[in-house]
Amino acid sequence: MRKYVIMGIQGCGKGTQAKLLAADFDLVHISVGEIFRWSVQNHTKLGASIKRIVSRGELVADDIVADIVHKRLADHDWNYGFILDGFPRNPRQAAFFLENYDIDAVINIEMPDEIVAQRVLSRRLCSQCGLDYNLFYHRPEKDDTCDVCGGQLVARDDDNEEALRARIADFHAKTKPVLDIFAVKELIVHVDGNQDRDLVQAEIRSKLGL
Ligand code: AMP
Repeated sequence: MRKYVIMGIQGCGKGTQAKLLAADFDLVHISVGEIFRWSVQNHTKLGASIKRIVSRGELVADDIVADIVHKRLADHDWNYGFILDGFPRNPRQAAFFLENYDIDAVINIEMPDEIVAQRVLSRRLCSQCGLDYNLFYHRPEKDDTCDVCGGQLVARDDDNEEALRARIADFHAKTKPVLDIFAVKELIVHVDGNQDRDLVQAEIRSKLGL
């Protein structure tokens, strides 16, 4: 059983890295952002209540987030473990998490702010199957079309300059302090995110001893 949290600024590639790790080690990838995007797209009650907050790049209220994470982990479909992506995002969420769960390691992907904007603003997502693309690093073969399912590629609502500014500011003010909380008791591995995605993955595995 392996239980990890993956952290890093928006656009550092944590979703991609979490998926690569999850696929090879049978971990359940739990992305709070994906759960929120799915809820908005499918017009659920939760989706309606968070739509404006998410599209502005602001953080959703802690009690909603804690409830989502708690319910998702209560499914207990993670026989081989899980990787939590995008949570905890502030000290209060970290306190809730550490009171209720334990983890093996925190993966912290480091990336300078200057590179983040270029990466995030060139991000695209398949509107049908949810696959990620990037117009610089992982272009689709045909413009605006998913290579796998043929769905239309779109930018995330919150991948615009204004929302990105809010998310970067939140990351520095609220999410970075979470690392200090984890550092007291947990193993943190720091990984350079500004390199080819396979090298990032190799560095993660080597530092986790996988
Ligand atoms: P992400 O895909 O991780 O970038 O998350 C997309 C959006 O979902 C964020 O900009 C927030 O609006 C919301 N969100 C995701 N995770 C959290 C969290 N742990 N706490 C609060 N809001 C979150």
